Amino acid sequence: MNERDSETIAGLLIDMGLNRTERKETADLVIINTCSVRDNADQRFFGTLGQVKKIKEANSRLIVGVCGCMMQQEHVVDEVKAKYPWVDIVFGTHNIHMLPELLRGAAIEKKKRVEVWEEGGEIIEGLPARREFPFKAYVNVMYGCDNFCTYCIVPYTRGRERSRKPDEILSEARGLARNGVKEIMLLGQNVNSYKGIDEGGAVDFPELIYRLNEISGLRRIRFMTSHPKDLSKRLAAAYRDCEKLCKVIHLPVQSGSSRVLALMNRNYTKEYYLDMIGLLRGICPNIAVTTDIIVGFPGEGDEDFEETLELAEQVKFDSAFTFLFSARKGTPAASYEAQVSEEEKRRRFNRLLASLNGIAAEKNKTYIGRRESLLVEGAGKTGENVMAGRMDNGKLVNFVGAPELTGEFVDVRITEAKTFSLFGELTYCSTD
Ligand code: SAH
Ligand code: SF4
Repeated sequence: MNERDSETIAGLLIDMGLNRTERKETADLVIINTCSVRDNADQRFFGTLGQVKKIKEANSRLIVGVCGCMMQQEHVVDEVKAKYPWVDIVFGTHNIHMLPELLRGAAIEKKKRVEVWEEGGEIIEGLPARREFPFKAYVNVMYGCDNFCTYCIVPYTRGRERSRKPDEILSEARGLARNGVKEIMLLGQNVNSYKGIDEGGAVDFPELIYRLNEISGLRRIRFMTSHPKDLSKRLAAAYRDCEKLCKVIHLPVQSGSSRVLALMNRNYTKEYYLDMIGLLRGICPNIAVTTDIIVGFPGEGDEDFEETLELAEQVKFDSAFTFLFSARKGTPAASYEAQVSEEEKRRRFNRLLASLNGIAAEKNKTYIGRRESLLVEGAGKTGENVMAGRMDNGKLVNFVGAPELTGEFVDVRITEAKTFSLFGELTYCSTD
């Protein structure tokens, strides 16, 4: 979500006539877009501000702006004002569109401005974007979140749930496809609760996918993130009916203990989650399932953690993002009494990671010998002349190939499997 916002920020700046520089030291303007989901993101922000201070000392004309989720929290803005008075512009997640006005104020009238809206209101359409890739693109379908999981800061920083109109999404996707985009990633904190409205009435998330599936030129549709509690049979059916819908689902489980899930306010149980996996695999047996897991949520006991390990074994996740619980100021879980010690969190985290990595490596091995189609994303990181692409189900495959293949579909035969990636040999390239 933040990366997509950064594309809008870059688009607004380019429209104002600014160019991108790769070196912060030569910049006239630095904008730091912040994430607040865990404490380490907060820490990185303050670290980066420290570096920018040195650049500003060497160049007093430099304009510094800070924005994003952290700025939606009053205590952060207070800290920025008190400790970093040289910051010129502060804006939030709901008023990115004001950047040109704020910037003109800072550059011409030397006016410092803090402009953070508490709520988003009407969605502002039609903002420019400088997209990061020509062949794949993020497309927002909704903003905000109403779920209030007890550990999570997002509902406070991104505001209430608001869905874009289906026609806006479809016309953006058509435009992207016309410009050569082959893969879109639909973005929302909980895409399953997308509530679009058009002349014909309500449009839910599966319906949106069925409609996007009709767009010619578009080859792949992905989405993230979906909340298990709102997963519908119709979404599962879309995996069967929509050939462009990639056969992968990121379905954050957070914990394998129904007791902890209740404390987290996730509104589902372990059994329900397993039923949802059963539903999806019943319709699409090879669907890749990825997840998020939080370790050391307050009150998580040894037995609860064992249940998380068991669930991981049962589901056999293709990959998982694992997080140490991080207390976020203002969220209910931050003040729960039974906080788990840092040492215990680490211990559990390492055990879980070892288990998840073993499962992922085993699953990856089953691909050896298979022929797979990849969308090539760019240079790989495993050696010279190595390119990397993704299979429909999101798995990363490295292969020896030419840089010109970036953005194209190629066929490979999988020859080697590792925990986080596969290796393949090129068998066919298409340049359609
Ligand atoms: N809307 C998405 C995820 C948003 S945040 C969803 O509900 O799935 C991405 C992930 O960060 C979450 O799934 C959760 O696993 C993790 N996360 C959020 N808040 C956290 C916290 N306070 N401590 C540790 N991990 C957290
Ligand atoms: Fe946070 Fe829960 Fe909303 Fe995801 S669904 S953004 S974890 S509150």
